Amino acid sequence: SDHFSLDYDAELNEAQLQVVKTFYGPILVVAGAGSGKTRTLTYRVARMVESGIAPEAILLLTFTRKASQEMLRRAAALLDTRCEHVAGGTFHSFSNMILRRYGRAIGLDSTFTILDQGDAEDVIGILLDQIGFKKQGRSFPKKGTIHAMFTKAVNKEFSIDTVIAKYYSTYFQEIEELTKLHALFCQYKFEHQLLDYDDLLVYLQRLLEQHQDVRQHLSDLYQFIMVDEYQDTNKIQARIVRLLAATHDNVMAVGDEAQSIYAFRGANYRNILEFPEQFPGTTIIKLEENFRSVQPILNVTNDVIKQARESFQKRLYTRQIGGTRPILVPTLNERQQSQFVAQRILELWQEEGIPLAKMAVLFRSSFHAFDLELELNRRNIPFVKVGGVKFIEAAHIKDILAHLRVLVNPLDEISWRRMLLLLDGVGPKTAAMIIQQLLVEQNPFAWLSEYPKKTKYRLDVQRLGSTLLTILPLPPAEQVRMLREYYAPILKNHYDDFAKREPDLEQLNIITEQFTSLEKFLTEMTLEPPNRSVDNMAQVEDQDEDLLVLSTIHSAKGLEWQSVFVIWLAEGRFPSMYSLDDDEALEEELRLLYVATTRAMQHLYLTYPVYDNKWGNYFGRPSRFLEGISRKNLEQWSLFEEDIEEDGEEEFA
Ligand code: ATP
Ligand code: MG
Repeated sequence: SDHFSLDYDAELNEAQLQVVKTFYGPILVVAGAGSGKTRTLTYRVARMVESGIAPEAILLLTFTRKASQEMLRRAAALLDTRCEHVAGGTFHSFSNMILRRYGRAIGLDSTFTILDQGDAEDVIGILLDQIGFKKQGRSFPKKGTIHAMFTKAVNKEFSIDTVIAKYYSTYFQEIEELTKLHALFCQYKFEHQLLDYDDLLVYLQRLLEQHQDVRQHLSDLYQFIMVDEYQDTNKIQARIVRLLAATHDNVMAVGDEAQSIYAFRGANYRNILEFPEQFPGTTIIKLEENFRSVQPILNVTNDVIKQARESFQKRLYTRQIGGTRPILVPTLNERQQSQFVAQRILELWQEEGIPLAKMAVLFRSSFHAFDLELELNRRNIPFVKVGGVKFIEAAHIKDILAHLRVLVNPLDEISWRRMLLLLDGVGPKTAAMIIQQLLVEQNPFAWLSEYPKKTKYRLDVQRLGSTLLTILPLPPAEQVRMLREYYAPILKNHYDDFAKREPDLEQLNIITEQFTSLEKFLTEMTLEPPNRSVDNMAQVEDQDEDLLVLSTIHSAKGLEWQSVFVIWLAEGRFPSMYSLDDDEALEEELRLLYVATTRAMQHLYLTYPVYDNKWGNYFGRPSRFLEGISRKNLEQWSLFEEDIEEDGEEEFA
């Protein structure tokens, strides 16, 4: 590699190097955690750009936007800033961009609104009100359940009755009504130019399938396609990749079936196995060596994945020597678990000099960390929490965003409804009536500002209208600033804890300052919302601060830390209560534990409360997954029992 500025041979092993040097034709890299899949993609981008391929001709699809940004930043650091011009993002953000530009062909305005899950549920609520399905003896599913059904149907490409038979044990029998409701749901969204997450993918597939000219154009534009975390794509995404590569077949996909953790959302790890059928002539490359973790950690992760019914035939090994065994820590209760984790983190930080940012506490569900958060606050250990309730899911943030959304898409009934319902004396019926009228107006904002009907809410409606009218031409940050003034009395009126919510609005204002286009801001907030939970959002200002990471396992994929703590390894928590009588779900929980444990480089701690009176005996058992880990691969610490064996270990089975 004489004429390359980068020494690829020194930075990659042979199998990785082969991938990096092969530009043309389909390549599939199937490899275990920490084997350098993401690193290989990054170097391949650099190599292509260095070889003279236009960065704009490369499309890099990743699971989060942060992941692609990070990879491109890395590639740019390796080579130069040309790498920043590579088209990178998630399937959803890519679809959004393409549909705004080319969606006209399938009837989409460039100003469509993206619905998050809560919004989509609201649409279902409105339709339920409209058609008034009557309960027939047993209960009709709630809007959240219905939306989950619809999402499953779309992502798995099942009919409604198949979804009900498969996932709801035929508990609900209103198949005809639900099928009709689904059709209405799709029609409603289309008429109002509202797209939920599923629609972004469905519409992109439709566009590419039905419009040969667009397909050809995009395929010519993106000559090289790379996809990370391919095990977590669904069928629609796999088809989108197939269509995008129509003219060249230059696709590289990397993934690890054992780390598939989004089946509950319709992902299908069989996509990996079926890739060679979609792309005949695929070169399959396996990376066998792990570069992330010390061998004692890999011994445990191997024991975890060995328990899967599906045999993944993967054993991770490393050439690194040394390392200590992962530590298993049963604690008396949740309190003691929190105290132990906080204490140990303090020791690693202050005595061993490991920066907080190189440590992470991982958990199955966001609420598992609540008690720990209190303990960390008590001890002044700064942390950031990732996953769980998103900033934009908070009601007061959604209120403000609703006002902004109608400025871009005045057909967005969901947002109209939300803000009208905030006004005193306006109930669902009144809101529906006002919306019906304003939708036919040329300028709904002006019409509202002169709202004619003599009612007790007249002035409020007018104030809403004139506020919207005033802010319409302003830049986003200014719009939010004025909306906050308008909204201040409403906030006080609706939320008892308004004082706690105010800093979030300030934060929202700070975020908007980076944007010149309101539409871009709204899209980004819905597709790639700030990863931080509301509580932490306002506190964390300095990005470079050394912060401990608290994260759901789902949000930890692809990442790595020196020291990792996995907490709440107790039956009913991890595996979760909802998976206990469902083999497929249990299997996914196991893969989730595999993802969690493979994040650790040097230290791994596994903890669980033995008895917690909050939950009774039910949770008093360690996770079944621990039983499958060979005892000799773990070191056990005892915090409360007397009978410690000579060598410091004890039975836990
Ligand atoms: P995951 O399945 O968890 O996403 P991955 O296969 O994508 O893992 P990477 O994150 O790319 O693995 O790599 C894991 C770690 O190993 C990183 O710190 C990476 O820099 C390092 N690494 C990978 N390959 C090499 C190599 N050839 N030489 C040195 N370090 C490497
Ligand atoms: Mg990776």
